[in-house]
Amino acid sequence: MKCIQCQSERLVHNAKAVDYIDFGVKRPLKLELDSNPDAWVFKGTTAGELNATVCADCGFVMFSMAKHDAERLYSIQREANG
Ligand SMILES: [Zn+2]
Repeated sequence: MKCIQCQSERLVHNAKAVDYIDFGVKRPLKLELDSNPDAWVFKGTTAGELNATVCADCGFVMFSMAKHDAERLYSIQREANG
């Protein structure tokens, strides 16, 4: 794998994107999709945690998620679009 910006192979893998909430508690950043976005409560949210790969030469950050989470998000989208 290479940096898509500078082609370097000096990459940091599996860095976690996190957010700090009250009292220093951290939680992973996620991407999510709702199967029923117009619902008041039960939106059918599916989410996947972000993993980051960082280039040590230029600092470019590339995000990815587990393949099974990406597949679940794709299924939600496909159902929503018929
Ligand atoms: Zn780079």
